[in-house]
Parts: sequence; C-alpha cells; structure tokens
Amino acid sequence: MPDASHVSEGRSLFAATRKVYPRKASGRFRTLKNRVNALLLTLYFVAPWIRWDRGPGAADQAILLDMSGRRGYFFGIEIWPQEVYYLTGILILGAIGLFFATALFGRVWCGFTCIQTVFTDVFVAVERAIEGDRNARIRLDSQPLSAAKAGKKLFKNAIWLVIALLTSWTWLIYFSDAFASTRELFAGETSGWMLSMWAVFTASTFLFAGYAREQVCIYMCPWPRFQSAMFDEDSLIVTYEAWRGEPRGKAPKDGDFTGRGDCIDCGLCVQVCPTGVDIRKGSQLACIGCALCIDACNGVMEKIGRPPNLISYDSVVNQVARAKGAPAKIRLVRPRTILYGLLLVIVAAVMLAVLALRDRETVNVLHERSPLYVRMSDGSIRNGYTVKVLNMRREPQTFRFALEGAPGATLNVVGYGERDAASVALPVEGDTVGTFRVYVTLPKDARTDHVRMVFDSPAGTRILERAPFAVPGS
Ligand code: SF4
Ligand code: SF4
Repeated sequence: MPDASHVSEGRSLFAATRKVYPRKASGRFRTLKNRVNALLLTLYFVAPWIRWDRGPGAADQAILLDMSGRRGYFFGIEIWPQEVYYLTGILILGAIGLFFATALFGRVWCGFTCIQTVFTDVFVAVERAIEGDRNARIRLDSQPLSAAKAGKKLFKNAIWLVIALLTSWTWLIYFSDAFASTRELFAGETSGWMLSMWAVFTASTFLFAGYAREQVCIYMCPWPRFQSAMFDEDSLIVTYEAWRGEPRGKAPKDGDFTGRGDCIDCGLCVQVCPTGVDIRKGSQLACIGCALCIDACNGVMEKIGRPPNLISYDSVVNQVARAKGAPAKIRLVRPRTILYGLLLVIVAAVMLAVLALRDRETVNVLHERSPLYVRMSDGSIRNGYTVKVLNMRREPQTFRFALEGAPGATLNVVGYGERDAASVALPVEGDTVGTFRVYVTLPKDARTDHVRMVFDSPAGTRILERAPFAVPGS
C-alpha cells in the first residue's frame, strides 16, 4: 500500500521557488560576459538597419525574412520558399555547433550567449542600478510598501518596458523593412497585426527577462535535460574542487589552513549565482555555466591568500588527477570532439557547395488529374499540365520550351505561340514565377508513359523534366 501520510498530514508536495537576488560579481569571466553581451546586443540591434543593394525594386535590407514577399535575404544570398531546406541545414549546423561547444566547454552557450541569459543580464543590471546590489534589494523587498519603494519599482519596470519594446520591435523588423516599418510606426500607420505581434513579444521579453529569469532555464528550456549526454569526463565544466575545499569552515584568524580545506564557507559563490545554485554540491541541472562563481571565489581566495581556482573550469579527469597530486591535462581533441568537429565541417561544406552550385531557374510540372487524357478526333492523345517556371534572377528571361525524344509530339501553351508547335517561347519576369497551361499531344499509336520536357534559359541553364503521360488503358 502506498504511504499517503504526507497527504493526510497536510504537507505539500510542491516546493515554492525562492527568489534569487544575484550579487554583482567582478573578475575575468564577468568582464568576458560584458564583452560578449555588448557584441551580441550590438549585432542584434544594428543588423536590421544595414542596407544591401539588390537592384531597383528589390528589398535593400541586408538581413530580412520577408514573409509577405516569401523571400529570405542574407546579404548576397536570397532564399526562395522552394529552398527552405537551407533553413533546415542552418538548424542542423546550429545543433551540431551546440553539441561541439558543449562537449568542449559544458554549457558555455547557456552561460554566455543564449538570448535568455543576455537579456536577463541586462534586466538585472537595470534592477541593480535602481534598487542596489543583493542586500539592498533583499531589504527593499522585505520593507512595507512606501512611496520610495513604489517609486523605485515603478521606475525599474518602466525602464524594463522600454527595453522590452525596443527589443521586440527590433525582432519584428527582421521580418519587414526596418526603415519603412519604423516610419509607419511614427506616422501611426502600423497595421493591427504588427501592433499585436509587438505587444506579444514585448510582454514575453518583459516577463521572461524581468520576472521569470532563471526559471526559464530551469523549468522551460529543454536543453539542460539532454545536454549531459554531450559531456564526457574530459569536458571542461564549472566545478568546485572539493578535494581542495573540504573540510570547509570559517576563515582561520591565524591564516593557518593546515588540516582543513580552503573553502571559508562565505557563500559568495552562491550569492553571485544567477540561478541560486551552490556549486559546492556538485554539477547541477540549474547551473548554466556562467562562471560567475569562479570570479567570486577567486576574489575570496586572493583576499585570504590562498591559490585561485577553488572553483574553476575543469574536467572530471583533471579533478581526480589534481586530488592525487598528479599533473592535470586538458584534452580538447578526443573522439567525441573530433566527431562533432567533422560533422560540423561536412554539413557546412555541403551547405556552401549547394549554395554555390544552385540553379537560379527551376521548373515544376504538375500533370492534370481530371481528365487524365483526352482522345482527339484524329485519334491522337492529349495530356494537360500546369508548368511553373521560377526565374530567380532579377532580369526577365524568355525560356525556350520543347519536347525531347518524342517523335510527332506537339506542344500547345495556352496564350503563347502557335497551336501544335514543336517549341514555344515562355517569357518570365525577373524574380517571379511564370505559370503556364500546357497541352502535349502524341500520335494515336504512341506507347509511352512519360514525356521529356526541356527548358532552355538565355542564361545558359538547361532544365529537363520527366513528366508522366497517360494513354488509354494506362
Ligand atoms: S566563494 Fe569560495 S570560499 Fe566562499 S563559499 Fe564559495 S567556494 Fe567557499
Ligand atoms: S553555479 Fe556558477 S557557473 Fe553555475 S550558474 Fe551558478 S554562478 Fe553560474
């Protein structure tokens, strides 16, 4: 029988999360984080304003995902909806890159570059500037509501809101022309759809970076659940060197650490942690690998005159070696990292090759299903098709359309060329898709189940399409 005593006694199975008040850290990892944040934020906010000349009438935004125009632009690269597999390739590349970085340096992505980490850092910096550092914030939150407290909270939320508005507007202008959209905004002409998207993204940024913070990493993000599968005993992760730190205790007044560990149990490593983790308890799912506890502890070690890196980026193998007094060795090149590195290079090379060799003209042929064929009065058989010719070049092109290897076959393109011609000229405007209604007629004794269509572009591209051909009894 299951023991239900915990229910009958009225105890809850729910553990309420306690609010984390991260203390300001300083040191080389904090400096590195500041620089990475500055770089990423600059790229994010500046990129949609960069222009790229693609000729008259074409979008001139360097990076644009034009949903209404159904095009993706990245500087000189233009992606059509038919080439959406590039997006799949980029996602695969991103995933392998993430595996590679994790195998080498643990959750370096989460700690330094994830959008949630970067914006939470910005929001916490604003909070710290207005409400003070950790102790001041704890005091403020425990005080009863007063005009001063309400003023600080309102001011903080107002700044957060401005940041959220700017962040989400920047996100939106990756999907529509930055200058035109912003002009419309100031002229009060923004569409209801755009305004509602702005509101949704603003609310998410405000809540996730301002209030949810580490909860997003711990409870919402799937990555921590399976990132441990990418580690091995040689991965460099943020670890507490327990062999050196234990047994911990208050700092000895005489400075003598004989017979005890270097950890003075000051708790600074926990106080600076944005997710409230005590790394001394070992590697944990909530640790995002930001390395701020390394900075905090190194500051303490310097003050008490002990060697640095009681908490450090280290591997399990090294920890064991150091504990035995053996030399530590960083092994970046090992089967796992070689495999991820190779996969990264192969996928990147395939994507580049496909991109470099891709055709700027494509043809899609759709056989008419109803009727499958028509027998003409002279006994010949006619099939109908819808032919779509994609001209991905800026300039108009006239394609020469003919049939190959079908003696006696004739072509009839509705609205173009003579009836029952051997070949037809199909004009297609630049950067558009030309749609044509095509009839192919074969002599009455034709015994084939397909026809070969040939499209020659003036740019020298030859496209061959094998289209099904239905005959009576097929
Ligand atoms: S900061 Fe260093 S010394 Fe202080 S509690 Fe953490 S591990 Fe121990
Ligand atoms: S334990 Fe250290 S590395 Fe992990 S999240 Fe906390 S401060 Fe960052």
